[in-house]
Amino acid sequence: MRSEPALIDAYHRRISYVRISVTDRCDLRCTYCMSERQTFLPRENLLSFEELERLSLFLIDQGVTRLRITGGEPLVRRGILDFLKRLGAQVHEGRLKELTLTTNGTLLAEAAPHLAQAGIRRINVSLDSLDAGTFRRITRGGDLKKVLDGIDAAQKVGLKVKLNTVALQQDNRGHLPEMIRFAHAHGMDISLIETMPMGEEIVGREDQFVSLHDVMADLQSFWDITPLSDTTGGPSRYYHVAETGGRLGLITPLSHNFCDTCNRVRITCTGQLYMCLGQEDHVDLRAALRADASNAALAAALSEALRHKPKAHDFFIGAQAPQTAYTPRRTMSVTGG
Ligand code: SAM
Ligand code: SF4
Repeated sequence: MRSEPALIDAYHRRISYVRISVTDRCDLRCTYCMSERQTFLPRENLLSFEELERLSLFLIDQGVTRLRITGGEPLVRRGILDFLKRLGAQVHEGRLKELTLTTNGTLLAEAAPHLAQAGIRRINVSLDSLDAGTFRRITRGGDLKKVLDGIDAAQKVGLKVKLNTVALQQDNRGHLPEMIRFAHAHGMDISLIETMPMGEEIVGREDQFVSLHDVMADLQSFWDITPLSDTTGGPSRYYHVAETGGRLGLITPLSHNFCDTCNRVRITCTGQLYMCLGQEDHVDLRAALRADASNAALAAALSEALRHKPKAHDFFIGAQAPQTAYTPRRTMSVTGG
């Protein structure tokens, strides 16, 4: 039975949305996300599907209404589609409002019908360029056609697709208008994301960082862009682009702190619950699961963790970093973006 009250943190933010990373592995090596010779965690460190399922059901009992499955690349984990179908039963039963997925799209063409069957209605696909060569360079070897075929297959089975595009000063800043036109022409929202300083071993990030304030100034020089009041409780702020007739989201962790309305926590592929992407405070749910903790013990761990959800993150890129600035050691592929 669903317990009340729902999860509330020390700043009175209601936590209704959890992102769960199911793997740190990936078939791409995006330059801003992973190093070229990324080493992956031993498999036994990852939560098993049984553990992931128990945890997900527990979170739903605790009042979580939206779950996003991410990674690494979630679709590379063997057995993921069956797991999603089991979890999707919670959507069909009305206990979960929404089950969503973030993917790089390379395996989407085959997976799309299974995702729709599982009760998934929306997915985010990450795509940083429509130029095959640039895409290959950013992803260190990815095949753009597979992703475009995947998007097409997803739309054909009725999945609503949103594109996520990391804005990169050197690699794609000049391609962003084309990406936005493409998304809107195909009935997709698109969110632009500032590169976040995650993962100590990633080199050259400072050179690739571009503030979305500057990108918006470029776009507003030739497009009529008006803010929308739409909010998902997530980090995107939305705008309407008159000329393309579509919705543009901006995710600006560096140039605009969006923590006030943050309704989410993240669980890494090793079962570590992070209250904030940009902070180290976490609780080891895997240890609790493997010690066969009761739901009451898990609930106690969760509410203790929430008391420590910070008011805001302290990301910073550049030489003038304040003393509180901090670069998480873990990459986005471990934490789950
Ligand atoms: N592999 C899947 C994908 O690429 O969509 C899911 C995981 S990936 C870590 C999730 C999102 O995080 C992607 O949109 C990716 O572009 C973004 N991302 C990864 N590293 C990032 C960073 N350092 N700063 C900003 N976004 C990042
Ligand atoms: Fe893989 Fe996604 Fe990271 Fe790219 S952003 S390397 S696709 S996990």
